[in-house]
Amino acid sequence: MPLADDCVFCRILKGEIPCTKIYEDDMVLAFLDIAPFNPGHTVIVPKEHQHSSTAIDPEYLKAIITVAPKIGAALMRATGAEGFNIFQNNGRVAGQTVPHVHFHVLPRFADDDVQITASTKKYGDFAEMNALADKVKAVLNK
Ligand code: AMP
Ligand code: ZN
Repeated sequence: MPLADDCVFCRILKGEIPCTKIYEDDMVLAFLDIAPFNPGHTVIVPKEHQHSSTAIDPEYLKAIITVAPKIGAALMRATGAEGFNIFQNNGRVAGQTVPHVHFHVLPRFADDDVQITASTKKYGDFAEMNALADKVKAVLNK
């Protein structure tokens, strides 16, 4: 899919608006997030405009997930972070605000205030888990 006129990441890819680039190859561009959860927070974007990771050519996903840990390791060395998260939001309900697939690489520090938490839910029993797994497998195998 061609780059879009009304998408902030496409406009960055086209050079119409600036970014703080940290990595680029034929498939992806990585730059510092403008509103970071921690210093060094990076977004990796494919050079194709797609809203969801379910729609994009898997070659882009391969390129992104190959480079993401390398960027994470570089961020650790550059910032002194002790770890990093890689995450990707699909859909508004999942926290996606920019409708162009992107992966976050977030350096983590011992006393940072980043919280990725939820109260855990419970399945009734294994039968309930199996029924749900069967449903998902049926869709996957279609
Ligand atoms: P998400 O919530 O997963 O859609 O993440 C979108 C991210 O893109 C947010 O963390 C924003 O801060 C970031 N972002 C939006 N516009 C820009 C921009 N012009 N340059 C860098 N990062 C941006
Ligand atoms: Zn786009």
